[in-house]
Amino acid sequence: MTDIAESANVLLKNDNYVLTTHLNPDGDALGSLLGLGLALLSAGKNAVMVMPHPVPATFQFMPGAQQVKKVDVQAKFDVGIALDCTDITRAGEEAQQVLQKARNLINIDHHISNQYFGDLNVVDAQASATGEIIYDILYEAKIPITSDIATNLYTAIVTDTGSFQHQNTTAKCLQTAAFLLDCGAEHRTIQQHLYEQRSLGSLRLLARGLESLSLNEDGRVAWMTVSQDLLSASGATVDDSDGMVDYVKSLKGVEVGILFKEVNSGETKVSFRSKNYLDVNQLAAHFGGGGHERAAGCTVNGKIEDIERVVIRKTEEQLAVKNCGGPGR
Ligand code: 5GP
Ligand code: MN
Repeated sequence: MTDIAESANVLLKNDNYVLTTHLNPDGDALGSLLGLGLALLSAGKNAVMVMPHPVPATFQFMPGAQQVKKVDVQAKFDVGIALDCTDITRAGEEAQQVLQKARNLINIDHHISNQYFGDLNVVDAQASATGEIIYDILYEAKIPITSDIATNLYTAIVTDTGSFQHQNTTAKCLQTAAFLLDCGAEHRTIQQHLYEQRSLGSLRLLARGLESLSLNEDGRVAWMTVSQDLLSASGATVDDSDGMVDYVKSLKGVEVGILFKEVNSGETKVSFRSKNYLDVNQLAAHFGGGGHERAAGCTVNGKIEDIERVVIRKTEEQLAVKNCGGPGR
């Protein structure tokens, strides 16, 4: 039996599910959580969607977002489902406890760095988004895809492919997106909420960030820093820096774009994006993180200036490695 068929089977056979996703959830994390959660509910199951933090404001338009609950560490479930998580710690401590208590733990993910921590692991690094895998599971389980479920899964695919721009935009992903539109996914609503509702603070933050954009000597590494000071000067929140790293990568000649985000005085979140050849999953793994070949991240402790220096040096080192796939290298 394939992983997809086996997971479809588990979803049909049990009654009591808890679902969760990673901290700092993105569109794929939430789209997968809400898409699968609503599908299980519509199939008459008890399905509880949990997260340690509230759904970020940008994503509150997603159908079912109001049904996401705080984690209750006392609660017990037959099946725990971790979505879009490379390893179980990505779910946060409380959700991890609840998942581990479940009789059966299912790990559904598309990260190349996935740690296969479930009793059942449905991991497909070829999938554009975890939401794409959920579509296949629901199709296999013959659970009807309502327009609400479709909107969630479509959001997952749109966000993880950068609106169908990234390398992971495959024929299969486009076919799945097309099926989801047929099922009633609200394309314009999603675009409006994700890309046409920016706060003034977030645009000011972008302007200031771009002004301080830095480049290394050969122009292949570019980076931007969002310090706590910059956030308050711009009237922005940390969430407002989402998507800024794509601007860094967009510069001509740049292979790797990096965003340094000061979470607090001792902790910095680093986002990596590469264009054509540098494996940023490996780069992030060097600092205890992970992700995909072209998009990865990590959180590093220490002073932000020190972290910047070390991370940029390591990035240049990796770029200099012979046969890293770069042109003429
Ligand atoms: P972002 O830079 O947008 O936060 O994340 C890019 C990709 O890397 C996403 O797929 C995300 O799940 C993954 N990622 C980001 N931070 C971490 C981390 O600290 N650990 C791991 N394993 N993956 C991460
Ligand atoms: Mn994802």
